[in-house]
Amino acid sequence: MPQQEQYRQRSYALSRQALELIHELGLSANPINFAVFFAYFEKSNDDLVALIDILRTNKRVLDDLKCHELYLRFIEPDRIELLRETVTGDVHQQVSDLVNRLCAGKEQISTADLRQATSDLLSIGKPSTTQHGKTAGNNAEQPPAEVTQLLLDLEEMKREAHTDGLTGIANRKAFDESLRDAAMATMEGGECLSILLIDIDHFKRINDRHGHQAGDQVIRTLAKSLQENVKGRDTTARYGGEEFAVILPATTMTDAMRVAENIRASIESLHLKSINRNEDLGQITASIGVATYQLGEPLTRVIERADQALYLAKESGRNCVMNQNDLQDEPVKRAANA
Ligand code: GH3
Ligand code: MG
Ligand code: MG
Repeated sequence: MPQQEQYRQRSYALSRQALELIHELGLSANPINFAVFFAYFEKSNDDLVALIDILRTNKRVLDDLKCHELYLRFIEPDRIELLRETVTGDVHQQVSDLVNRLCAGKEQISTADLRQATSDLLSIGKPSTTQHGKTAGNNAEQPPAEVTQLLLDLEEMKREAHTDGLTGIANRKAFDESLRDAAMATMEGGECLSILLIDIDHFKRINDRHGHQAGDQVIRTLAKSLQENVKGRDTTARYGGEEFAVILPATTMTDAMRVAENIRASIESLHLKSINRNEDLGQITASIGVATYQLGEPLTRVIERADQALYLAKESGRNCVMNQNDLQDEPVKRAANA
């Protein structure tokens, strides 16, 4: 079978697979979703394939919005790169043609020649009118200001949707996404990935004794302290009310335990005074659970192990760090600490 025919047949098969999965997932059969799933079955982008597999295995949200995100992240950049290569290629060709024309049969180049060449060069990439009155060569046009503003607004909205309002650090949604990305990188690179779950001890008492605003202040200070204890590629997130999570890519259990211990000690050494009442808030402590991701497991499992280790730390007297290896055979029940 000729190569072109082979490609045609394959493209039909891939289209069918893409549409079937779009239907199975209950998504709209729009061009964006189609492009994403066509690329998925074509395996043209390893990262896209791995991410969709993780989303599906972990039964994570994979709706039209998520597909749009995947499109912007994996498909659009390839398209722009292709366009850029084409435009750059065009410009090179035009400059080269111009130089050839300028030099053709000439010993010397006059000022008039150079002026003409400059004007020709400046017109490259601008829309020009062909003999037939059609516009051609407008690839280098900038998007209109409204579109640029819209993209900026979209970026800002995305940033806000991923940020916790009280502390300014990543929220639960951002944590989930960062963990998925980190797990994907781990599957590709084979490095360890560890997570910490941190819960403030007896936080209710702080609220009860010093008021909700003082409680908020403690949460903000703790978030800041966490950020000071981690490196650039780690993600610190507010996981829930007075619970935080840290993602530590390329970090073994031993190193994660060290980070957790540093965090625990720095929280213990905080001296806090309530801003509004100027009261001493006393010593704040936190308990920490540590777990390491096992390649290929659903992400809920690693979170579950960290959560169980955290509750073991609570059971063991609080203000301490426990990890998945401390769990032994007996799973810790959350209810036991209530
Ligand atoms: P433990 O040591 O077992 O973790 O005890 P705890 O008191 O910290 O835990 P508990 O779950 O009983 O109470 C958590 C409290 O955190 C209850 C809730 O009102 C408070 N809280 C949750 N979110 C916020 C918040 O954003 N601001 C304030 N000030 N308090 C919050
Ligand atoms: Mg809690
Ligand atoms: Mg607590």
